[in-house]
Amino acid sequence: MKAMKIVEFGKPLELSEVGEITKTKSNQVLIRVQAAGVCHTDVSVRSGVIYKRISANPPRLPFTPGHEIAGIVEEVGDEVTGFAKGDKVLINPWQGEGNCFYCKIGEDQYCDSPTWLGITTDGGFQEYVLSNHNYVYKIRNLSPYEAAPLACAGVTSYRASKLARLNPSSYVAIIGAGGGLGSMGVQIIRALYGSIIIAIDVNDEGLELASKLGADYTLNGRKEVHQEVLKITNGRGVDAIIDFVGSENTIKSYYTFLAKLGRYIKVGTFGGGLPNEAGLKIHSMGWQFIGTLTGNRKEFLEVISLAENGRIKPVVTKLRLEEANEALDNLERNKVTGRQVLIP
Ligand SMILES: [Zn+2]
Ligand SMILES: [Zn+2]
Repeated sequence: MKAMKIVEFGKPLELSEVGEITKTKSNQVLIRVQAAGVCHTDVSVRSGVIYKRISANPPRLPFTPGHEIAGIVEEVGDEVTGFAKGDKVLINPWQGEGNCFYCKIGEDQYCDSPTWLGITTDGGFQEYVLSNHNYVYKIRNLSPYEAAPLACAGVTSYRASKLARLNPSSYVAIIGAGGGLGSMGVQIIRALYGSIIIAIDVNDEGLELASKLGADYTLNGRKEVHQEVLKITNGRGVDAIIDFVGSENTIKSYYTFLAKLGRYIKVGTFGGGLPNEAGLKIHSMGWQFIGTLTGNRKEFLEVISLAENGRIKPVVTKLRLEEANEALDNLERNKVTGRQVLIP
């Protein structure tokens, strides 16, 4: 089968011909990949930088990235019930071993010894992939390329929006609003909370998309936005900021327009921390800075339901599996609106 593999961190992925996966372990499902979303995290997987920011060791190379995977069940292990060859499925790539404290409380994505497809174990940039059956979800009326982005962009923005504790009178700023996660976040907030959305992005096309999806205001992050946000919010600032970029620069530039009692939700993995000046004002402003990592299994099911019922719809661009490097380069250059999806 064909696979796009990392042979050396920091170098382009290489198209490889690898043997078919024939051994499906007793608790596994073998899935023929029909769509694999390309996430900004995959850029950091290709460079290897991600392994300095998470508590997981780098995988042995060559390695196949890709954690947003939808496809068709090809084979099921002996112990697996409830799945049959031909089922349409979406994989939850944030898998736990089931026994640590965090798995027991249903927050598997924080597992002490996680298996993350496409990050710690081979993922979806190939024709077939194996997954623990506990993390495989059947889909009904979604196409594979509409389903795939739900696995990271969908569930992550869903959880982040929940943590922001929004209501119809809240002002919320979404940083990176035109990207894969941001474009889902705008739709989720629109559908569930009806808050006033200020979309911020450095890409004008992304802002256009955010506006089409329901953002009330759009601001280009390359320009001065602080005063603009204060104008929109009658000088009060926003009640929540959902930062889908999460770089040192975004946090430093944007926490300044957080209103009293505001929540700053840091989602992106660009390594930014809390600036000192923000720490000094945290008590008098009543601010909360909250980090978040994907979502749990219940939230995974909820986000599938939102999409199955047409309340949200991933905006996708389709590329061939062989174009994985171009897709990653596009992300690196901020040239992507919505989600790019590889079709093997
Ligand atoms: Zn665990
Ligand atoms: Zn991702």
